[in-house]
Amino acid sequence: MKIVLLGPPGAGKGTQAEAIIKRFGIVHISTGDIFRKNIKENTPLGLKVKEYTQKGLLVPDEVTVSMVAQRLEEDDCKAGYMLDGFPRTINQAVELDKILNKAGEKLDCALVITADYAKLTERIVGRRICKGCAATYHVTFNPPQKQDVCDKCGSELYQRDDDKEATVVKRLEEYDEKTAPLIDYYEKQGIVKKVDGQQSISAVEKDIADILSAL
Ligand code: ADP
Ligand code: ADP
Ligand code: ZN
Repeated sequence: MKIVLLGPPGAGKGTQAEAIIKRFGIVHISTGDIFRKNIKENTPLGLKVKEYTQKGLLVPDEVTVSMVAQRLEEDDCKAGYMLDGFPRTINQAVELDKILNKAGEKLDCALVITADYAKLTERIVGRRICKGCAATYHVTFNPPQKQDVCDKCGSELYQRDDDKEATVVKRLEEYDEKTAPLIDYYEKQGIVKKVDGQQSISAVEKDIADILSAL
């Protein structure tokens, strides 16, 4: 099963991917997580992308596409995957289609999680991430059992630099301008399914599980 997760920043893509992949035995590939790991470790890739992520701008397509192409060649992807945060431009989607075509494969579904701007902002500014395992929490909507400590691995939680209010507006603009057109792109392939992301985490999870089970 090969799924693309679409939706604006804060819609709940990462949260749902974590919950859903276990049920379907597929891997979760988050380009944002990969970038953050590289930035933290000061790798050449991290140094290259930092200036973009900090400003809330998309990383150039060449950098992103070659990173994803490499990742998709790893063995664990054979079981299927859920791409979270990729593609984010039409050009990235075209490149992904080329990679899939070459391998004689195709996407099963482009799953769109929707939510309005007020909700997104509220979710983004309250988001906290685990320094150790990248698990996602929310100070109000999905708090850890012990404040600022990850339930899963015990590491400290932090707020992403780009989750501060000043950068959020730019990220939402980038989404509207460059990523939202992908919904049309996948509509033309007939693979779009929409989920109401304004519901509770568990209600969204149930809707997604139902959609994927019916594929
Ligand atoms: P995305 O990957 O789409 O940017 P996340 O999954 O990181 O979004 O979710 C953004 C924030 O909102 C996180 O803090 C998360 O805990 C919280 N969240 C996710 N889904 C819901 C939901 N259905 N209801 C309330 N809060 C949510
Ligand atoms: P969110 O879902 O909250 O927008 P992500 O973790 O997916 O956040 O992405 C964080 C940042 O990483 C983006 O603002 C962007 O700078 C960069 N990024 C992630 N995925 C891509 C992509 N496919 N193309 C370009 N930039 C990306
Ligand atoms: Zn953790």
